[in-house]
Amino acid sequence: MKIDLHSHTYFSDGQLSPTELLQRAHTMQVDVLAITDHDTVSGLEEAHAYQQTQKRPLTIIDGVEISTAWQGFDIHIVGLNVDCACSDFQAFLTAQKERRRQRAEKIAEKLSKCGFEGVLEKAVRLAGPGQITRAHFARVLVNQYGVSSMDSAFKKYLGKGKRAAVKAQWPAMAEAIEAISQAGGQAVLAHPAHYDMTTKWLRRLVDDFAQAGGHAIEAACPGMAAAKQSLIRELAQAHQLLASAGSDFHFPSRWTELGRNLGIANELTPIWHNWSQLPVDKEAL
Ligand code: AMP
Ligand code: MN
Ligand code: MN
Ligand code: MN
Repeated sequence: MKIDLHSHTYFSDGQLSPTELLQRAHTMQVDVLAITDHDTVSGLEEAHAYQQTQKRPLTIIDGVEISTAWQGFDIHIVGLNVDCACSDFQAFLTAQKERRRQRAEKIAEKLSKCGFEGVLEKAVRLAGPGQITRAHFARVLVNQYGVSSMDSAFKKYLGKGKRAAVKAQWPAMAEAIEAISQAGGQAVLAHPAHYDMTTKWLRRLVDDFAQAGGHAIEAACPGMAAAKQSLIRELAQAHQLLASAGSDFHFPSRWTELGRNLGIANELTPIWHNWSQLPVDKEAL
């Protein structure tokens, strides 16, 4: 069974619609897909409606990826199986949207001081009904202001400490874990290898995450170095965290694909081990 528990649509900074994402998931033979847009669950309705028209089974997991703050780092917490109807959770996401809007205005002010006028309007238009992210600013800078690449837009302007960097007022990591848990979901520490921190800090992060009631850690991220993989395996076991697996797919490219290379080490317990909504795996019978 192919399971991918981290993906994006154009309701945040992914480039595919929920329908296109599911079409790709079908093509890639994915059986279980979590849609985890940044700070929004708005793409899920279209995804479920589309899947209902399809013959090939695919289980959609209602998910989200929440931006949080921990010790000065931006830490992403994925929520899986969240109840989108939970009113406290909706209020939490509405507050995130407002934080994103305020940060976008400040980013645009800083960019105008760098000589890029009128970026906000273009980035807002590009984001459409979804959450506005730094990736939208980066795409506008590349497509309309001659910046050479997304990577360069982050390295020169949008990345931490760069000219148009703005510290967002994200909620504390523990608050996000609490909000996800209240909505009946499971909180997953996203892409632990992608934070720019030393091993010592990563140990502290996982420790605090587990203490705050976090459920699982992404233990299968494609491209992760072997040493990092084994560190994360060790931390997951030490804190009795379940293991999640996700591609963090944003758009088709040479490097990322839905459901690819997401194997979990045998000694870890997958987060889906007791999910009742999983399809029966005929091969495993
Ligand atoms: P935000 O959540 O608004 O801070 O935006 C961060 C998003 O930008 C991440 O989720 C990534 O998808 C994207 N991103 C971060 N760094 C880079 C980079 N160097 N190149 C391309 N995209 C990036
Ligand atoms: Mn993203
Ligand atoms: Mn992330
Ligand atoms: Mn993501």
